[in-house]
Amino acid sequence: QTSLPGTSLPAVSQYACQRRTTLDNHNKLLTDALEVLAENCEFNDSKGPCLGFRRAASVLKSLTTALSCLQDAVGLPCLGDESKNVIEEIFVCGSSSRVEDILADERYQTLKLFTSVFGVGPKTAEKWYRRGLRSLEEICADSSIHLNRMQEAGFLYYEDISKPVTVAEAKAMDCIIKEAASCFGSGVTINLTGGFRRGKTFGHDVDFILTVPEPGKEDGLLPMVIGRLRSQGLLLFSDFQESTFDLNKMPSHRFEAMDHFQKCFLILKLRTALEEGKQRGPTRRRDWKAVRVDLVVPPVDRYAFCLLGWSGSTQFERDLRRFARLERGMLLDNHGLYDKAANTFLPAKTEEDIFAHLGLDYIEPWQRNA
Ligand code: ATP
Ligand code: MN
Ligand code: MN
Repeated sequence: QTSLPGTSLPAVSQYACQRRTTLDNHNKLLTDALEVLAENCEFNDSKGPCLGFRRAASVLKSLTTALSCLQDAVGLPCLGDESKNVIEEIFVCGSSSRVEDILADERYQTLKLFTSVFGVGPKTAEKWYRRGLRSLEEICADSSIHLNRMQEAGFLYYEDISKPVTVAEAKAMDCIIKEAASCFGSGVTINLTGGFRRGKTFGHDVDFILTVPEPGKEDGLLPMVIGRLRSQGLLLFSDFQESTFDLNKMPSHRFEAMDHFQKCFLILKLRTALEEGKQRGPTRRRDWKAVRVDLVVPPVDRYAFCLLGWSGSTQFERDLRRFARLERGMLLDNHGLYDKAANTFLPAKTEEDIFAHLGLDYIEPWQRNA
């Protein structure tokens, strides 16, 4: 391990995949501020600056101590002038005026609200903002606005799915999915992925990866699981996407964020216990909560790549791919790892195999909260 000149501190890598980032963030005040700036850039479609702030926040999240002055940040990678200015202002004044201005900005607030609806991205949010719309009520009341099926569901279940999902709810969902998949045969494996696999205690959804022991035999799995959830009365919304995976086509096109595996984006009913005393009474309360669930089904020989890709964090994934490309001449995505010099795909049964191909130390899922 290399050290910073003149100190015994280990140097911090510019790549998140060479850092161990737990959920124990010692610089939350700084990273929250940088992430507001990143989000605002995203709303303004400034991709470069957005990535700059995200990388800076990610580096600070990996530190095992709190910075107490700008001097402490000397030698850290990915801190541009803009990020440093914000960090300095926070140390000197307690907060950043630039961040405070954004948080108070009507456009920022409105776009943040609109994009909190399932199925609404920055482009749609911007369109609605330009039309003069400012609240969710105004959107629902505007008959000239066409909502797609996903957005319809997003508004219908907004109250529930805008609340964070707890670990207990994720575990309950795990039982529901396992039960629904059990009739496909005993060979089905189901694993929790996404934020909960990284040890997060709250999430915006619950992500699962499913597969079967024989490649090519997984095709019927998701339709069956969805059918079963429907017959149990648990299916509130389903967007099913057929697999478009074809290893022969790769890597002729650019490696993208989205993958080609069979998947579905769901909203499911999760039964909740009624609180004591609320069961009787004039207004009977609902005994369920709507929860967002993502299911993805790769063929088993692609499982490790898909698991690695769906475990996140997004920043960790970005840097894994960037590292593979720039440092190793390889292309990595959710489907595979391609060695450009050898003109071949590298096989992997486990995530450890992929890290080994890349010449990286293994990073545990709970250390990928970059
Ligand atoms: P949260 O708690 O907010 O859900 P998360 O890390 O689980 O946090 P998700 O949006 O659920 O965030 O995504 C989990 C991972 O799956 C991310 O790393 C993302 O890159 C990947 N992912 C999400 N959607 C897709 C998709 N359609 N295709 C490929 N990968 C995806
Ligand atoms: Mn998730
Ligand atoms: Mn998800």
